[in-house]
Amino acid sequence: MLESPRNSRNTASAAWNTFTDMLETKCGREGTYFVEVEPEGTTKECAQCGVETDKPLWVREHSCPACGFEVDRDANAAWNILSRGLTELGVGHSEETPVETALPAGTTPVPAKRVVEAGSPTLSERVSANRVG
Ligand SMILES: [Zn+2]
Repeated sequence: MLESPRNSRNTASAAWNTFTDMLETKCGREGTYFVEVEPEGTTKECAQCGVETDKPLWVREHSCPACGFEVDRDANAAWNILSRGLTELGVGHSEETPVETALPAGTTPVPAKRVVEAGSPTLSERVSANRVG
């Protein structure tokens, strides 16, 4: 049926819509999220730095000329899809380098309640925010 020239696109689209409807129902039942994302460019875009690189279909490896990130083409696309879905849900990843967690030799560890996450408001910013709100 998919090979018939007249309605193959409609048939494929209907099958895909049935699949996504079922998946959405299942996700709702299991208490998780279902998000459809724009698939365009997910194989071209580097999952690490975001630079787009054209590659023919037969090239199965993603190798970023900008940051040197090398991974399977499909894994790179999967990370981009996950990232787009999380962004749509408002759970985006930080673009910045993660906070350094290792301590230089000879230093004493800082208690966890004194650690401030990168990008968090400073103590004075938090205090002034509390006064206003
Ligand atoms: Zn890159």
